[in-house]
Amino acid sequence: MFESGAARPGADTLSTLGSALNVPTAFFVRPLTETHEGFFRSLRRTGVTDRRRARATAYVAHDLALHAAAAGRFPASAVPSIQVSGLEAGGDEIEHIAGRVRTALGILSGPVPDVVQLLEDHGVVVIRLPLGTADVDAFSLPFPDHPVVVLGADKNDRARSRFDAAHELGHLVMHGEHIWGMPEVEKQAHMFAAAFLMPAHEIHPQLPQTVDWSRFFDLKRHWQVSLAALLRRAKDLGRMPEAAYLTAIKTASARGWRRLEPVPLGRPEQPRRLLAYIGTPAGRKAQMELPRNIIAAVADATTVA
Ligand SMILES: [Zn+2]
Repeated sequence: MFESGAARPGADTLSTLGSALNVPTAFFVRPLTETHEGFFRSLRRTGVTDRRRARATAYVAHDLALHAAAAGRFPASAVPSIQVSGLEAGGDEIEHIAGRVRTALGILSGPVPDVVQLLEDHGVVVIRLPLGTADVDAFSLPFPDHPVVVLGADKNDRARSRFDAAHELGHLVMHGEHIWGMPEVEKQAHMFAAAFLMPAHEIHPQLPQTVDWSRFFDLKRHWQVSLAALLRRAKDLGRMPEAAYLTAIKTASARGWRRLEPVPLGRPEQPRRLLAYIGTPAGRKAQMELPRNIIAAVADATTVA
């Protein structure tokens, strides 16, 4: 009844609820910014409870970002909004959108140095889910003021983390609050991530036409993307014939590379901005109004690899 607005809790009830739920009572009266349910990859893979919990964590991070923004410690969102023409939009259109976004975010050519930092510098809140929480894939919530990107618990895979962050950026740019929850939308975000991290006109001439692993290893180091993503790109751009692609995939499987790729790229990129704010006096004060255990868990997940 309280949630639906049919009844209002009195001060005593609020205080009891606060201690039972381990949140300050001030948290209950904070204004709530609404957005859709979020860009989740597979609704089947992640249960409703896990999804709601992950989403609630993103809301707390958003609250914290609002405090940080008010203290001049977090920039307003500067993520361009370039809606796709529809669910059937594909290759060329998305390649073009990704190119425009690179330019808008100041990436003129070559690999994106740090996707997480780029997002944070443009007003996007980035956090990692606490370790030990259910295995939820990366997802995002398109709040207009500060969109939130939530990366999965750190699996020590830099390439995957970068691709995930770029995928969520694709949603924020192309889908925003307009479309979500359909498989086509996920496919488009994947195409965006590939185009954003490996622009066709730059990578096409670099990609081998045969299964040249040492060449792929070099490209992995240079572009900071997985071998799987490079192979897929080589096929999608028509650089590598289908037969060669299938041979490569089979070889990679046989060698166990689909679980653990060779040429590790080091630690995943780490969000920093909210964490830096939490440590300031204003940040400590802001936490008085928020569920501190959630913030502490997110801060842990974000700092510890
Ligand atoms: Zn997605």
